[in-house]
Amino acid sequence: MRLRRRFRFGIPPVLSRQMFGEGLRSLRYTQVTSTVIKISTTHHPATDLGYLLHKNPGRVHDIDVTFGRCAVLFPEATEERCTVALLIEVDTIDLVRSPGGSLSQYVNDRPYVASSFLCSAINKAFGTAMSGRCKDRPDLAQVAIPLEVRLAVLGAKAGQEGIRRLFEPLGYSVWVEKLQLDPHFPEWGESDYYSVLLSGTVTIQSLLLQLYILLPVLDAKKHYYLDSQEVNKLITKGEGWLATHPEKAWIVRNFLGRKPSLIRDALEQLVNVEPDLAVVSLEDEVPPDVAERIEKKKSLHEQRHDRVIEVVRNLKPNSVVDLGCGDGKLLRNLVPILGLNRIVGMDVSYFELEKAAQRLRLENASPKMRERIELIHGSLMYRDQRLDGFDVATAVEVIEHLDVARLHAFERVVFECARPQTVIITTPNREYNAVYHAMDGLRHEDHRFEWTRAEFTEWSERVAGQYGYRVEIEGLGEAHESYGAPSQMGVFSR
Ligand code: SAH
Repeated sequence: MRLRRRFRFGIPPVLSRQMFGEGLRSLRYTQVTSTVIKISTTHHPATDLGYLLHKNPGRVHDIDVTFGRCAVLFPEATEERCTVALLIEVDTIDLVRSPGGSLSQYVNDRPYVASSFLCSAINKAFGTAMSGRCKDRPDLAQVAIPLEVRLAVLGAKAGQEGIRRLFEPLGYSVWVEKLQLDPHFPEWGESDYYSVLLSGTVTIQSLLLQLYILLPVLDAKKHYYLDSQEVNKLITKGEGWLATHPEKAWIVRNFLGRKPSLIRDALEQLVNVEPDLAVVSLEDEVPPDVAERIEKKKSLHEQRHDRVIEVVRNLKPNSVVDLGCGDGKLLRNLVPILGLNRIVGMDVSYFELEKAAQRLRLENASPKMRERIELIHGSLMYRDQRLDGFDVATAVEVIEHLDVARLHAFERVVFECARPQTVIITTPNREYNAVYHAMDGLRHEDHRFEWTRAEFTEWSERVAGQYGYRVEIEGLGEAHESYGAPSQMGVFSR
């Protein structure tokens, strides 16, 4: 029969029976070498699934893929329940032989597991549904419907626990069965492969996007070269759910094949914002170049931190949040302050936060210390309720990294929304650049502006007046007789 010719080799009949049941038998589709994913719905009428996926349930659809063969068919299609199956056959021989082939061995698990090949096929077969469009039922595409996904074989080194950690936070019920290496030889034991059933009430678009991102995270082997396009894919396909996923860092890392520059780029873009509270729109934000440190002259930076710590100590606060905490140097100096029960570091750069976690040795910290110190990923461009209720907020050499046109967002986030008792802000004094013989340039390439003493004073007084604070300004570092100190600090209190 026609279908037999599409798929050349055989997989254990048990799998095909398990996956297709009677529907398959009626198609006489019994010898399939492939990975299979089945998606079912009990939405009424269930056959709407065909419209949602732009596939007629009465036909078998060949999908053109570069790595083998792929077909979409509907083993069952009644008003009560409809199931679509996507089958792929990975041609390992062709992939090994082709120039720059993406496989190095003929014998491997790729034909059988849910891998990046399957995801490419999902994208190819259901691209329109993934983009949220549906020609014949446009409203239905936006509706969450009961959906069930069966994956015959999913490789997951992270185990059952890993599978749950990825899907449960998205609202799916997860059923996992660990597969034996070979049912004919039980003594060989269990494998790292799982049969998985997910069920949830979601839109078909969310389901497909989430599978597309999360299956390769578990499988962790991609068949193609990863570049910045992959970051774009992750950001666009993860929109609306990835930034808030508790396993965001793991997802990003594995999806991007552990390439540090891509990972950093993606995590910077996945800041967790509360959209309703945004004071500026996300597109407006200029992602800061966070890799660079603001001061090459370490001693000045240390002097600055020492003075900030001294001011904090005198305030005897119960809680401090360090805004734009970077790699956590100031946080580490806050730790010894007695009576300080809550220390929070916040930064837009996930990469910097990871460095801070290392510096603070959070991984091996005692439970008490973990309760005391927290690192949060966020942006000072957006109102963030996690910043509410602190005695002191510090922003050391941060404001000059923000676009001057967006400073009003920072002002509102800190002085209008979070409203700590005291805010300590430091920024370079541009006049002092003359001492560095850098009259026209900025001190650092990521600085968006640098202010003179008069400019900082003017801004500080305006902000203090507007939001009901008093401000005191002082120079930081050894002062030059004409140009003043290299850095300046405003202490705002209410
Ligand atoms: N306060 C630290 C780091 C200063 S460098 C110190 O004293 O060492 C500036 C820091 O501001 C960087 O870590 C950068 O990631 C962070 N930053 C820049 N824009 C930000 C934003 N919109 N929200 C939060 N942090 C931001």
